[in-house]
Amino acid sequence: MTARKALADRKGKKSAKKKAKAVARKPTRRAAKKTPKKTQRSASRKAMSKKSPAKRSTRRRAREVVTQRRVFFFGAGQADGHAGMKALLGGKGANLAEMTSIGIPVPPGFTISTEVCAEFNQRGQKLPVEVKADILTALANVEKLMGLRFGDPERPLLVSIRSGSRASMPGMMDTVLNLGLNDETVCGLAAMADERFAFDSYRRFIQMYGDVVLGVPHDRFEHRLDAEKEASHVRLDTELSGQALRRIVAGYHEIVEEHTHAPFPQNPQEQLWGAVGAVFCSWENQRAVAYRRINAIPHEWGTAVNVQSMVFGNMGDGCATGVAFTRNPSTGERSFYGEYLNNAQGEDVVAGIRTPQPINESSRASHGTDLPTLEGEMPKVYKELVRIYKRLEKHYREMQDIEFTIQKGKLWMLQTRSGKRTTAAAVRIAVEMAKERLISREEAVLRIDANSLDQLLHPTLDRSESQPVIARGLPASPGAAVGEVVFSAEQAELRTKEGAKVILVRTETSPEDIVGMHVSEGVLTARGGMTSHAAVVARGMGKSCVAGCGALVIDYEQGVMRIGEHLIREGDPLTIDGSTGEVMLGLAMTVIPELGGAFTELMKWSDRLRKLEVRTNADTPQDAIVARRFGAEGIGLCRTEHMFFEPSRILAVREMILASDSRSRETALAKLLPMQRGDFEGIFRAMDGLPVTIRLLDPPLHEFLPQSDDDLRAVAHELGTSVGEVRHKLESLHEINPMLGHRGCRIGITYPEIYAMQVRAITEAACRVAAEGVKVKPEIMIPFVSHARELERLRALCERVIAEVWREVSAPRIRPTIGTMIEVPRAALTADEIARHADFFSFGTNDLTQMGYALSRDDAGSFLPSYVEEGLIDVDPFVSIDEDGVGQLVRLGVERGRSTRPNLKLGICGEHGGDPASVRFFAEIGLDYVSCSPYRVPLARLAAAQAAISQRRRAATEAGK
Ligand code: PEP
Ligand code: MG
Repeated sequence: MTARKALADRKGKKSAKKKAKAVARKPTRRAAKKTPKKTQRSASRKAMSKKSPAKRSTRRRAREVVTQRRVFFFGAGQADGHAGMKALLGGKGANLAEMTSIGIPVPPGFTISTEVCAEFNQRGQKLPVEVKADILTALANVEKLMGLRFGDPERPLLVSIRSGSRASMPGMMDTVLNLGLNDETVCGLAAMADERFAFDSYRRFIQMYGDVVLGVPHDRFEHRLDAEKEASHVRLDTELSGQALRRIVAGYHEIVEEHTHAPFPQNPQEQLWGAVGAVFCSWENQRAVAYRRINAIPHEWGTAVNVQSMVFGNMGDGCATGVAFTRNPSTGERSFYGEYLNNAQGEDVVAGIRTPQPINESSRASHGTDLPTLEGEMPKVYKELVRIYKRLEKHYREMQDIEFTIQKGKLWMLQTRSGKRTTAAAVRIAVEMAKERLISREEAVLRIDANSLDQLLHPTLDRSESQPVIARGLPASPGAAVGEVVFSAEQAELRTKEGAKVILVRTETSPEDIVGMHVSEGVLTARGGMTSHAAVVARGMGKSCVAGCGALVIDYEQGVMRIGEHLIREGDPLTIDGSTGEVMLGLAMTVIPELGGAFTELMKWSDRLRKLEVRTNADTPQDAIVARRFGAEGIGLCRTEHMFFEPSRILAVREMILASDSRSRETALAKLLPMQRGDFEGIFRAMDGLPVTIRLLDPPLHEFLPQSDDDLRAVAHELGTSVGEVRHKLESLHEINPMLGHRGCRIGITYPEIYAMQVRAITEAACRVAAEGVKVKPEIMIPFVSHARELERLRALCERVIAEVWREVSAPRIRPTIGTMIEVPRAALTADEIARHADFFSFGTNDLTQMGYALSRDDAGSFLPSYVEEGLIDVDPFVSIDEDGVGQLVRLGVERGRSTRPNLKLGICGEHGGDPASVRFFAEIGLDYVSCSPYRVPLARLAAAQAAISQRRRAATEAGK
């Protein structure tokens, strides 16, 4: 997001609102009825004259409710509310009150509370009578301060009516400006300013009120306006004469009467009730309801309504209106950034018909115009604006997004709120504010959304160049990727060798695709969830991945894929965004974010605050180096199976699996041993001084088996047997449900030679690199344990092999520790027994979720997204740990494991280790470390610091109770 785009986004939202309104029009609300003679207050006074004590206390309660303030005044340095009252006054109302009380020039007004919104809707869209009375009292105060009167034909007060809920809902609800104008007051306004201005304001008011309150289609007014422009031979609204605007007003009156069968309401009070009611009603309109559903904003919150004296930026010379950010929202730089329009009302900036001007020289840089600046045109007002923005930022201790209007040289502030910003800007602002001592370092750390750090570490799409989205899948691994489509790992390798950039598109990926994935820019799959093979591997490699894109159908034979009506051939350009799950035709522009000094600083502060160790899941020295650069403090999971898929090794692996006796298996394993040892040596060197957890072979054996005839022939030749024999062996290895079959430690039990080779490779590698002076801390991890006896048996095997190696090597002799994964529910439940044989546990929350939730990691993508969409679950349990279910298995594993071994080292290496919400949970239940893919390490460091701060604050509060 450029700073310019940040301003444009505010506009986009508002014009999107206009478009959406045409589609989702709220029910027409006719003007409210007149105030009944007998007010509710007098009715309740009568009721109170009865004597029973029970009734008296009920009456007291009733009176309390009646006397509870529901209309909150602000003006001339005094306010009934303050910034902490967002729930009652909405964000806008609370901030208007706050600005007023700290002496910022805010046009006086009042806020009708969110509670009234609920009452209004409960009472069949009627304003309570007492509220009406309070509104009129507050309005009289505004009149006094402004020296004007509502409905006065000579000096009329005009007001704006705006929504404002607790959470920002940009452009979702309605606004009415210039309220109080009628055929008489317009003349008073003309006398106070000029005719053109007065009739322009009146026609804008009729148009807005007609649309929002009376339900007259917006287009009808627009057509009338266009007709007048044509007749007057002008292009812009601003070029219309006073006479022309008078004709437009007359035309608008006709349109309203035609549509509503009643004249446009001339009574300002009637206008006021109509507009207040319509703004309350807009809480219920379709787009607001949809926005709340998408953003999980509770329906009961309701909106407040702000009624505020109008000030005009369109009254001629010395008038302007604008928006600004107190720091650059794109880069975070501490420079005031904004734009304004001379002689204009807020909505003109929004409409984008005229090009706004930069407020100062530093804004001009991202603006790219030579238009004069506010600083140059109105230096005194600009100086005042600078004084105010500095005051606001200091007061709120946060970057502010402000709106202002200048009326005849007098500056008025209309809004302040915390400004939206890019992640890079958020980090820089938080760090610089801490250095300026505006906030503490803890606050700086807490202010950054850990998830958003992904934006900093991967290329992102340049959203100013929009590309049509043709499908959506799961945002499985962040970052944008562009390239030509390839349908196989081989083609990916071939094309990249020829210099092309490719996107690997597969129905699903398997370990055989590793090399193809490695050379690709990104991966797109039709099937699979957030912990499917494609997702896990892509995250580990830092590649973009969109998984489980249901609309995608691939015909490998024809070399084409179909997404809806789009037919895409191998070689066609494609863009995927792994941060959003979007798939786009063509090659979009991407932006590579820069990691500045502020990021490093924030990470340093986080490291000082956190207690959890952060490791990484890495299988190669290259990944290990990347992770170390991101601050990993060790490897928590090195998946050894990925090392077996290189073309030079896979044949030996297949020989090993298909061997009919242990002798020929050992022959094959002997070929693999030096390769494995070399792998581990590289990783140990890269992680010098840090622990490395190496997991012994885990996946179902069938994943390694030969598929093509050529592969079958090669294996048969190597084993000195026939193709038929190999086929027969293949059939005998077939499993109905391999994920619950012959995998993990079960392989180690049935083929101990395989694990023995791996343990030997680890120990030999550790001793060799230690001899070079490298500090090695190897940890051997046994996967998929469900019974303590499995671990007991395999630990004995490991110790035997380690002892053998020790006999063979001279010093230094390195002893790896031996632990296990807790990823089967039975293992969590029997963790006390398993702990007898383990130096450490690492929770495999991917499989634990799969088995604890009975959700297939590879197939859940077909129904899980609709579970989330329909609110059956809040979040995909493969993304964020299911605290109430699977999380309890982890908690139990921790408690039971430590009951046997109080010093048991505990970590987690499932994908949840890189999810901030899960990291908080793991910190709370007392794990020692989390391990995640290299690119998520910074995010986990920040989340761990945030968890530690919250824990400490909670403990302090509890101690203080
Ligand atoms: C797990 O199950 O959480 C785990 C880390 O192992 P894998 O994803 O390799 O099955
Ligand atoms: Mg697992």
